[in-house]
Amino acid sequence: MASELNAVRKPKPLLEIIHLKKHYPITQGLLKRTVGYVKAVDDVSLTLNEAQTIGLVGESGSGKSTLAHTVMRGITPTAGTVIFHDQTRGAVDVAHADSSTLRQVRRNMQMVFQDPFSSLNPRMTVLDIIAEPLEVNGIAKGKAAQERVAELLQLVGLRPEYMRRYPHAFSGGQRQRIVVARALALNPRLVLMDEPTSALDVSIQAQTLNLLKELQSRLNLSYLFISHDLGVVEHVSDLVAVMYVGRVVEIAPTNQLYQKPQHPYTEALLSSIPKPDPTRKKQRIPITGEIPNPANPPSGCHFHPRCPYAQEVCKRETPLLREVKPGQFSACHFSEELSLKGVNDY
Ligand code: SF4
Repeated sequence: MASELNAVRKPKPLLEIIHLKKHYPITQGLLKRTVGYVKAVDDVSLTLNEAQTIGLVGESGSGKSTLAHTVMRGITPTAGTVIFHDQTRGAVDVAHADSSTLRQVRRNMQMVFQDPFSSLNPRMTVLDIIAEPLEVNGIAKGKAAQERVAELLQLVGLRPEYMRRYPHAFSGGQRQRIVVARALALNPRLVLMDEPTSALDVSIQAQTLNLLKELQSRLNLSYLFISHDLGVVEHVSDLVAVMYVGRVVEIAPTNQLYQKPQHPYTEALLSSIPKPDPTRKKQRIPITGEIPNPANPPSGCHFHPRCPYAQEVCKRETPLLREVKPGQFSACHFSEELSLKGVNDY
């Protein structure tokens, strides 16, 4: 009986990213000889379970957005596999699927972008914007589409009678709700969110995050949630993956990663989260320099020129991502020896 219950409770993977790479060739001369590669995504593996959220964090240029677009096959991967567990088709390798399979599977994988202003066509009404994917996929048109749009608007907390208005009549937060309603039109199981709240005011951000969490539990959605804002990611994620120059350098359950980081880059990112209490003096871990150019990253550990704990070996040997504590993986030679500060240790 116990084993039956365990089988019922066992988390089911929805998306498995396996050794995914996106390398852009750098060419030179008339013959366009390849002289190097920009390794935007460099051997990333992640598993996202049903109804789970993985937060993807890192500085701008760390490869987060390229990873999301490669998962969707908006960008063709250089190597690796992206398995999506489709309810009707079973396990589908999105990275190698033919165009017809890809079209079918993509109904279940939607994307929400940062800027609700540019995501919505200003010349279309909200009704046309949200009904478009229903009509294109032959799911509903006319009155049926209108009813579905009304239902979706209610779902995201907007009044259905607004459906004949144009995007300019809405605030930024309302526009992002329209974007979410459109993304949910086809009943997806996975939503990839690329900085979905960073263009919004702080008060609106909180409302939008609460809405996303509520929608997740009502609709059993899984999210891959990209953000440079660690405060936002903490609020929504079950697991957090930290990216640096195209690689995941740490991944762990959210609380564990925020309280006891195992990678110096995570520690530096956590120390930069603004604290609401101005009386609390915080000693920041200085993170010097810029994120390196992925066309020419530093040898060994890519973080070594900026790492306060770097040693000689870090310049020579690339640390592999390995389990350093139960459920916590870090790509640092010295994770076991360092005692790094968590978000509350300042
Ligand atoms: Fe720092 Fe070395 Fe660890 Fe890289 S491997 S994070 S340089 S201590």
